Amino acid sequence: MTGRAEQAPVVDEVEANLRAVRERIAAAARAVGRAPAEVTLVAVGKAQPDERVRAALAAGQRVFGENYVQEAKARWSPLGASWPDLQLHMIGPIQTNKAKDVVALFDVIETVDRPKLAEVLAREMARQDRRPACFVQVNTGEEAQKAGVWPADADRFIEAAARNGLAMLSMGMSADFEVAVQFGATHVRVGSAIFGARPPRPAPAG
Ligand SMILES: *Cc1c(COP(=O)(O)O)cnc(C)c1O
Repeated sequence: MTGRAEQAPVVDEVEANLRAVRERIAAAARAVGRAPAEVTLVAVGKAQPDERVRAALAAGQRVFGENYVQEAKARWSPLGASWPDLQLHMIGPIQTNKAKDVVALFDVIETVDRPKLAEVLAREMARQDRRPACFVQVNTGEEAQKAGVWPADADRFIEAAARNGLAMLSMGMSADFEVAVQFGATHVRVGSAIFGARPPRPAPAG
């Protein structure tokens, strides 16, 4: 069998999944009187084989979310140059020592969740003269194990970060993106409904 013949089912599967997710987003938007075009689908590639991510590119998807800086760099540094309209979103927690890589690679940073990080990112953006759009991550459920500014602190934090007038809201995953659209999300992050179940991560070495 040739590689191409083996890959065809993956390309078809990802393309069909993408079409189905886009249709569900559009239906959920129309149901609450929103225009489907107000909602951007962020395809979450974490832990997925490059083959599946390339299939999504071939199907016209251009907005991708990544959780891990190293994985994102390995995947997109070689691919990115061929796709000038690509838009990469950082959706994972950010350690301040990764700020340089994050600013260099991503177009949108969705997980600004503390003043120290906002400060370090701002410094790095000035240094690189690159200005990725930033979202403040709010822990709406006030769940201690999740990242994000708590709702009560959000206004103060946003003010301190001089990013008032936020017009964009990123929420939702495969299990609940239609609810997110209903509640006004401008961005939904969907992984497994597009790419299939994530293969288990190998245990960290050492
Ligand atoms: C993995 C991930 C997603 C996508 O989750 P699925 O259930 O695969 O759709 C969305 N948002 C964040 C922050 C994630 O880490």
